[in-house]
Amino acid sequence: MAPPSILRDNEEGSESDIGEKNNQPDINWEELGFSLIPTDYMYAMKCAKGEKFSQGTLMPYGNIELSPSAGILNYGQGIFEGLKAYRTEHGRILLFRPEENALRMKIGADRLCMPSPSVEQFVDAVKQTVIANKRWVPPPGKGTLYLRPLLMGTGAALGVAPSPEYTFLIYCSPVGNYHKGGPLNLKVEDKFYRSISGSGGTGGIKSVTNYAPVYTSTTEAKANGFSDVLFLDSATGKNIEEATACNIFVVKENAIFTPAIDGAILPGITRKTIIDIAIDLGYKVMERSISVEEMMNADEVFCTGTAVVVTSVASVTYKETRAEYKTGPEMLSEKLRGILVGIQTGCLEDKKSWTVQVD
Ligand SMILES: *Cc1c(COP(=O)(O)O)cnc(C)c1O
Repeated sequence: MAPPSILRDNEEGSESDIGEKNNQPDINWEELGFSLIPTDYMYAMKCAKGEKFSQGTLMPYGNIELSPSAGILNYGQGIFEGLKAYRTEHGRILLFRPEENALRMKIGADRLCMPSPSVEQFVDAVKQTVIANKRWVPPPGKGTLYLRPLLMGTGAALGVAPSPEYTFLIYCSPVGNYHKGGPLNLKVEDKFYRSISGSGGTGGIKSVTNYAPVYTSTTEAKANGFSDVLFLDSATGKNIEEATACNIFVVKENAIFTPAIDGAILPGITRKTIIDIAIDLGYKVMERSISVEEMMNADEVFCTGTAVVVTSVASVTYKETRAEYKTGPEMLSEKLRGILVGIQTGCLEDKKSWTVQVD
């Protein structure tokens, strides 16, 4: 019997129905948060183990069919990505460094023994998904269309081994701010770790298996009024690594510090971009270990990520100690955020060719 398929076979012939719908979706752009709003279409492409991805297709957004013994369900063989489409004041739609997401997905796929789409296939699929869901891209200044590419083992197998079949899928949702209510109050987690130190683990890839294990920490922190959790390195428990889904920077006497990419933290595209922007502005940026103590004595702290963009940190609590930091429009993080968002939304000149026009 053939393994159950994620792409239902009745999709044939429906392709002519795939097209941009023109009427405005019934949503209040002013109230966008970071929660799922289903859109019209998703993209999917399948490939057998040992083969290459070749042809994908758009299809109406909806539930997918999976074998109970799919690799993703049983053994967590899966990775995800996250990127945004931005509507400019001039009516264009831009992506920001999508090839970086494609390359990161490839590295994750190699680590988890999965085939991955080529950079061209990835970027083309993202573009197709945005165009088909164009009416869901929020107006400038109101939000963005968040795209979620997934790569997962969808073939059926009982033993612990790479799945016989893989699916690359992209769905999307319009989003506004990730954190409601401005600057973050972080809690340093001193009991659980997000990843294992060094290059032997999987902290450096967006493996689906890295995220549910932080829920115990984030649920407790949120119940106590914190916005997010900051994780420490598992080797010494002394150095900061990153928050749940964003990287961290500290500023001291006009120099900028962020933990080095060492295999344990996720190499954020926003992180890398902010480092470039800061260097171009003449700041000294150092990628190295940062102890909790050093962070507690910093002048300014901020987080970066596609979802949070650049968000300032108002306080960090470690055991019984709480450090507070200045926030506000005059802070370095605001300046960096302004430049980043300016480039992403086509308001500032894109000298480094970071943006990619969708249509
Ligand atoms: C996705 C992610 C980030 C941010 O990466 P970007 O490419 O900037 O979006 C940081 N940390 C973790 C754990 C992540 O999953």
